[in-house]
Amino acid sequence: MHFPGIISSKLPWAGTTIFTVMSSLATEHEAINLSQGFPNYEVSNELIDLVHHYMRKGLNQYAPMQGVPALRKAIADKSKALYGADVDPDTEVTITSGATQAIYTAITAMIRPGDEVIVLEPAYDSYVPAIELAGGIPVFIQMQAPTYRVDWSLVRKRMTPRTKMILINSPHNPTGSFFNESDLKELDRITDGTEVLIVSDEVYEHLLFDGRRHESVLRYPQLAARSFVTYSFGKTYHSTGWKMGYCIAPENLMKEFRRVHQFVVFCANAPMQYALADFMNNRNYLELPDFFQAKRDRFLELLNGSSFKFVPAAGSYFQLLDYSEITDEKDTDFAVRLTKEHGVASIPTSVFYRQPQDHRLLRFCFAKTDETLIAAANRLQRVRA
Ligand code: PMP
Ligand code: GLN
Repeated sequence: MHFPGIISSKLPWAGTTIFTVMSSLATEHEAINLSQGFPNYEVSNELIDLVHHYMRKGLNQYAPMQGVPALRKAIADKSKALYGADVDPDTEVTITSGATQAIYTAITAMIRPGDEVIVLEPAYDSYVPAIELAGGIPVFIQMQAPTYRVDWSLVRKRMTPRTKMILINSPHNPTGSFFNESDLKELDRITDGTEVLIVSDEVYEHLLFDGRRHESVLRYPQLAARSFVTYSFGKTYHSTGWKMGYCIAPENLMKEFRRVHQFVVFCANAPMQYALADFMNNRNYLELPDFFQAKRDRFLELLNGSSFKFVPAAGSYFQLLDYSEITDEKDTDFAVRLTKEHGVASIPTSVFYRQPQDHRLLRFCFAKTDETLIAAANRLQRVRA
């Protein structure tokens, strides 16, 4: 079939996302897939039983548009317990089909043609398309390797009367860096007295290591008052394929969010919402930092003595590996060769920039069983200059 007319693409620069490209390549070459970020171990049986229970109970029709009340209440309770935030479950929480939809919806609700949105690069790949589809103009500011700290004075300089929003993400994909208290205070300082909105993508809120504390914008009332904060049940409950997430925002922002949300998906999956509401109350997300830190440490221990160099990730479930001692190939080329010839798939980091910046770094997902990490590290140990 072929459409006979002229198609003027709304995203002319976009190919297929790197996550699909690398996962398909991994499958094709039977490589160990450390590219796309998803765990290769099972979701809790208790959670699966709960979903099953609610399906059997007949809760298989549309959920309320804004989400099941019990789940919104559990989220408000968690936000209070972890971040001291007073979140109204009725007016300030909406359940979404993953964080991707929450981010898309927040941007679509607020950004008009010509609005500028500050994006810190490297940036997760869904942010910029959402901005551009809304007619917004992404304003890119780079975080510098190897620490990937944000130069807030530079952000301040790039703010104009047209700056409508700043997008932040901590713990950070793909670098594994994080924001500390002084970052949040700087962000507060430069936005104070403005009407700039924030989208704070906190999907890795529980994945911060070595005793570090997650600085949610929800801890800072002035920042929370201008923020859409997005989360992913996929990351927290090892269930990325369920595509469940949520957004927290002040009532007047959430009102606009819901105006759009109701026409994007109407509501998120119903039985899973009931199940997650019950399951959240056991607070077992508190075990996640130790759980993932052990995986990071395991992976890095296994890589000692290899030709890859690294700074341990502070957070997220991604580890960057520097391959500059092995080759000076472009990261996109080397990622393909590593998959085909050495049987390990990763994500090249240059794709997280609008103007590709190649720092000879690949991103590896360590949310994998020990067996997989051992097998992958064995293969990586054999990669030499
Ligand atoms: N933001 C970041 C930084 C991510 O890494 C991801 C990937 N899971 C998402 C958002 C999207 O989350 P979800 O799968 O819940 O849509
Ligand atoms: N967030 C995951 C990653 O960064 C994957 C998301 C996706 O496949 N779109 O790998």
